[in-house]
Amino acid sequence: MEMNLTPSGERLHIGFFGCRNAGKSSVVNAVTNQDIALVSDVAGTTTDPVTKAMELLPLGPVLIIDTPGIDDVGGLGEMRVARTRRVLNKTDCAVLVADCRNGLNESDKELVALFEEKNIPYVIALNKHDLSPETVCTDDKSILISAKTGENIYELKEKIAASANLCKSEKRLVGDLLNGGDLAVLVVPIDSAAPKGRLILPQQQAIRDLLEAGCIPVVCRESELAQTLESCAKKPAVVITDSQAFKYVSQVVPQDIPLTSFSILMARYKGFLEEAVAGAAAIAQLKDGDNVLISEGCTHHRQCDDIGSVKMPRWLKECTGAELNITLSSGNTFPEELSKYKLIIHCGGCMLNEREMLYRMKCALDAGVPMTNYGTAIAYMNGILKRTLSMFPDLYNMV
Ligand code: SF4
Repeated sequence: MEMNLTPSGERLHIGFFGCRNAGKSSVVNAVTNQDIALVSDVAGTTTDPVTKAMELLPLGPVLIIDTPGIDDVGGLGEMRVARTRRVLNKTDCAVLVADCRNGLNESDKELVALFEEKNIPYVIALNKHDLSPETVCTDDKSILISAKTGENIYELKEKIAASANLCKSEKRLVGDLLNGGDLAVLVVPIDSAAPKGRLILPQQQAIRDLLEAGCIPVVCRESELAQTLESCAKKPAVVITDSQAFKYVSQVVPQDIPLTSFSILMARYKGFLEEAVAGAAAIAQLKDGDNVLISEGCTHHRQCDDIGSVKMPRWLKECTGAELNITLSSGNTFPEELSKYKLIIHCGGCMLNEREMLYRMKCALDAGVPMTNYGTAIAYMNGILKRTLSMFPDLYNMV
């Protein structure tokens, strides 16, 4: 069932790159043991990467990204590189497929330079060894394979696993902040914007991580929060709420119980909480006519009173009193031109991997635009940002 699949933000993203004549599609199919590569032999048929979530032993859950042949995109060299860069921004491990009979051509070398520039671990799969069995390779980044006969495909997977493990994160969402046996109260509103019949990903991940850490998660709606706190025989070590309920929840939770949100924890997990906290201060500077980008990491069905399109613009208006020009982006479409914005407010990014989230943050910093996220922005607008950072002493002292 899809609900039980590892979310894409938690999967290692493995990108396959190379020229069409190197047999990249056949290598992708041989490695995954499935027909997932859609790139045909006819030039110009595929311009967008194809992705597929799967279990790939010995790696575990991965997202395979099959990119168009670098020589298949057409147009100017610069456009080709720009497209490739976009895919690389979320690639944890790159596989360059080349024809072993020709070695690396100029496009291949360009790709290797990009992997190195972006600090992405990579493997070079020298394909078609069946056609040239006398070819040898001595460099330890490369491996001779044949997608046609299956030669060294298992070894290629092991090589990818060894490289990809270099970037496997040991980070935790919340379990490292608490001790075994601690009680954590999770506030989960069930309103019209909540998906039917399930919890959203950050809530599921928090519960799972708390259980793994030996903590005791207690889940309630905000309407039962006071009752839940009264029923606890021992003081909760933290209350974690949906940020949208911050205003109400902060009034109910006693000051001596740490309070934070799923979105704030997610920003720390994805490595950009410090920047998000600094970025929230830009809300106070917003004035009439300023452009604000609200960006969400996935495309979901927008409900009435949706946070990105309805609530956040409303809260910004109430807080600043300014008439702002709000632009909404979602999914893979993070705008390339950011300098016109005075502020970017991003969602928790639970569906994006850490590399993609940090890339977005870096684009904002490079363009000189502060970027914050839903949780920190809502806490800031409610005047409780400091309080919600009490579990992170460095940041607490920064505010
Ligand atoms: S909008 Fe953002 S936080 Fe919400 S589910 Fe999508 S990626 Fe996760």
